[in-house]
Amino acid sequence: MITYQIVFEGAIISSATFDKADFTPEVLTCVDQSGTIDRVISATDNDYQSVKQAAIDSNILRKIPKDCYLLPGFTDLHIHAPQWPQAGLALDKPLNEWLNTYTFPLESKFKNLEFAEKVYQNLVAELLANGTTTGLYFGSIHTDANLILAKICGYLGQRAFIGKVVMDNPEQTPDYYRDASSEVALSETEVFIQQMLDLHQQTGADITPVITPRFVPSCTEETLRGLGQLAQQYDLPIQSHCSESLWEDQYAIDHFKLRDAQVLDKYGLLTDKAVMAHGTQLSDTDLTLFEQRQTSLAHCPISNAYFGNSVMRVNEVITKNINVGLGTDISGGFSLSIYRNMQQAIMSSQMLQDSGQKQARLSAANAFYLATIGGADALHINSGQIKVGFKADLQIVQDQYFAVSSNEPQEIFERLVYHTNKENIKQVYVSGKLVHNNLGENNGK
Ligand SMILES: [Zn+2]
Repeated sequence: MITYQIVFEGAIISSATFDKADFTPEVLTCVDQSGTIDRVISATDNDYQSVKQAAIDSNILRKIPKDCYLLPGFTDLHIHAPQWPQAGLALDKPLNEWLNTYTFPLESKFKNLEFAEKVYQNLVAELLANGTTTGLYFGSIHTDANLILAKICGYLGQRAFIGKVVMDNPEQTPDYYRDASSEVALSETEVFIQQMLDLHQQTGADITPVITPRFVPSCTEETLRGLGQLAQQYDLPIQSHCSESLWEDQYAIDHFKLRDAQVLDKYGLLTDKAVMAHGTQLSDTDLTLFEQRQTSLAHCPISNAYFGNSVMRVNEVITKNINVGLGTDISGGFSLSIYRNMQQAIMSSQMLQDSGQKQARLSAANAFYLATIGGADALHINSGQIKVGFKADLQIVQDQYFAVSSNEPQEIFERLVYHTNKENIKQVYVSGKLVHNNLGENNGK
């Protein structure tokens, strides 16, 4: 018999399709030494008892308490790591003031590496405690501080995709926080790529560098072109913002006589490895381009309520075979909880429907799909599902109203989506490794 790393016994909930989450009451989820789910054994399978006994004998059986469920970990497709200290602040200000009075001065502080370490340590630990097992991060312009973020993700065990933010257009960025030139922006990006590849090689940390133009307005054409070339040369993921707001949309038209998406595409930045945040203003033509390039979208419903000027048409985008995941957009959004963002995605979709968009409503199952499969697919990782061959990125979550509510599977599932707080997330695993424990040493065994 294979020696497993850990075997979970209990109910699992995992997204099956965009419209449906599967609830399976009593199974053994067996994780091999590489951190991959090797088998999911039903209570009716012949060897259920023998595998369970072997796991007990090896002291690797993790029994999930009866008011708890095993769920896949979440992927957050849009986090500005250096904005964490201002999450929830100044969200009543217009975007321009929010950026120039709050955000750029804060991000510029990350040249101080001690400050960076303190903030990033807290951020990554909080994300893990909230069930986020993979993060797609914008760093700051500072290569060294970004590497600290990568080391912390490696040390704390979170899978991370991290970009050195590029912004070199003097017209749209402040003097105190800008890449010195296009040459510097591109060479620092390349240095960061090399450092990330080395760190991965040396430590085995699950980290990937990401090409990261902040957004079209913040970059010169020379830099956008160079970043597209680097993405191709190193075969890397790309992240940026696309058609986030009316202002951003208009900027591309005024300066390039093109749509925002067309500018990104012109420089090779819309690929099947690219994840573009927001897309609230994407036109039907833009969506066709996204579909052709197989570029994913990060839906950031909380942030969009403040800065998006409308709600992204998730259902329509999915119908066009464009992949969508969820992003918290710390700190355009105030909450780093993907649960909180699933709730907002559903609420915002109802408002979109009320404003005349047909078939706009999202269900809890739809939101859960975005948080798990949608996010994982955007980054091409085998995560987000409790299924053979997938990474054991998992969270044990407590239904806090189990004792006083109906225990029909659909109702349990909806309660988890709507009521899960950090305190209800009992344990979190990335590739089978325990990365957050809120259950107590022997509790649940
Ligand atoms: Zn953003």
